[in-house]
Amino acid sequence: MITVEDLQYAINTTAATHAKAHQYTTNLPLLSAIGHVLAEEIKADFDIPRQNLSAMDGFALGTDSDLDGDSSFVVVGESCAGKPYHGVVGVGQAVRIFTGAVVPDGCDNVVMQENTDWDDVKHVIDKSSSYTITLTKQSHLGNNIRCQGEEVAVGECVLTVGKRLNPTDISLLANLGVANVVVNRPLIVGILATGDELVNVGEGLPGLANIYNSNTPTLKTLLKDLPITIKDYGIIPDDLTQTCQVIEQAVHECDVVVSSAGVSVGDYDFLTHAIDKLGKITHYKVAMKPGKPFVFGELYDKADNSKTVLYFGLPGNPLSCVVGCLQFIIPALWRLSGVRDDDLPKRLTLKATLSHDIKKRAGRKEFMRGVYQQDEFGKCVVQAVGVQDSHRIKQLSLANCFIVADKDSEGYALGDEIAIEPFGWGLY
Ligand code: AMP
Ligand code: MG
Repeated sequence: MITVEDLQYAINTTAATHAKAHQYTTNLPLLSAIGHVLAEEIKADFDIPRQNLSAMDGFALGTDSDLDGDSSFVVVGESCAGKPYHGVVGVGQAVRIFTGAVVPDGCDNVVMQENTDWDDVKHVIDKSSSYTITLTKQSHLGNNIRCQGEEVAVGECVLTVGKRLNPTDISLLANLGVANVVVNRPLIVGILATGDELVNVGEGLPGLANIYNSNTPTLKTLLKDLPITIKDYGIIPDDLTQTCQVIEQAVHECDVVVSSAGVSVGDYDFLTHAIDKLGKITHYKVAMKPGKPFVFGELYDKADNSKTVLYFGLPGNPLSCVVGCLQFIIPALWRLSGVRDDDLPKRLTLKATLSHDIKKRAGRKEFMRGVYQQDEFGKCVVQAVGVQDSHRIKQLSLANCFIVADKDSEGYALGDEIAIEPFGWGLY
C-alpha cells in the first residue's frame, strides 16, 4: 500500500501539471480578490513614498550640513499631511512638520520635536508669525526623511504571477491604488455524496436507518478559503447507473470531482466501478488511519475528449473524509489553482510531549485526534481525545490538532516527543 507521503507526492505532481487554471483568467475588484491567484504582474504606477516625507512630528530644517546641538532656526510655516508648505526654505529657516507631511524644498533634515526646545516655547509662541526654535541634540543630514521611491519605485514589479493574494498583498495593492486585479479563474469543484441512507440537513429523517449527509457541508467549509467555486451534486443513491450519470455530468461541468463514500469493497459500493468506466483509478488505498480507502484518479469528459478532470474519492466516514481532504485534496487544489511553489500554504507541524502512552500497530500512519497546549516558552504538551475510532466525529470537534503517529511506530510512551498538526481554524 502506498504511503501518505508517496501519495501526496503523486497527487501534488499530477495537480501541478494539470494546473490549467492559468489558461483562463477573470478580473476581480480588489476586495473580492483575497485568496485568489494573481494572473498578471503588478507594476507600480508611482513611487512610494510619492515625495520626500517626514517620519516624525518636529521641524524640517533648511540646512545643507549636519548640525550641532545648539543651532537655532526661524520657523516660517507649517507642512501637514495632505497640506504641504509651498515655498523654498532657506538656510537657517525651518518649517513645523508632522508625520507623513511633505518635506519642503530646501530641507534636508527633519528633527523630532523632542530634540528641540519646543516644549519650552510652544506655550508662548504665536503660530501666525514666525518664531525661533533651538536644537537640544545634534542632528544629521537626511534624518527622519522617508525619501521618494525608497520603498517602491515607479515601474517596479511588486507582485508576480502565481501569488496567492493575502491581506498584506491587498494592503500593498490598495496603497498603489489598484482597484481591480486579473486572477486565475476559480476552479469548479463538484461535490457528490453517495449512499442510500443519506438525507440532507434541513429535511426530516424518514426512518431510523437514515442519517444526515454531513460530508458535503464539511467539505464545503473545509474548502471555503480556496479560490474555487463549489458545485453541489447532492446525494446519489447506491446505484451504478445513477452514479455514472451524475459523475458524467460533473466531469463535463467541473475541473475537479470529489465524492464521499462508496469506495470500499461492499456490494453497494459503486464508486470504484463508476471511475473504472468513466476514467482511470491511478491510486487506491493509502497506508493511513483513518481514511485508508482513498481513491485518486482521472475522469474523461465524453462530450469533450480534450478534457481530463482529477477525481478524489473520499471514504464515507466523516472523520476519514476530513483527514483525506486536509492531507490530499486541499494541497492539490492549491497547486491546480496555479499558486507558485514558493507561495503554497504550508501545513504547520509542531513537536509535542505526550501526556500518556499511545498504543499503535505498525503499518499505517495515524492521525489521532488530540488537544495540545503550548506554554509561554513555546513547548507543547498533547493528549489524545478518548478512544480513537474513524467514525467518531464528536472527537474531532473536541480536538485542536491531529497527533501524527509514524507508520512504522508500534506505540509511544508518556513523555515521548510526537508530531502534531494544529487545526488551521484554531490559529490566527
Ligand atoms: P461507505 O464508505 O459508503 O461504506 O460509508 C462509510 C460510513 O460513512 C457509513 O457508516 C456511512 O453511513 C457513512 N457516511 C457515508 N456518507 C456519509 C455522509 N455524506 N455523511 C455522513 N456519513 C456518511
Ligand atoms: Mg455507503
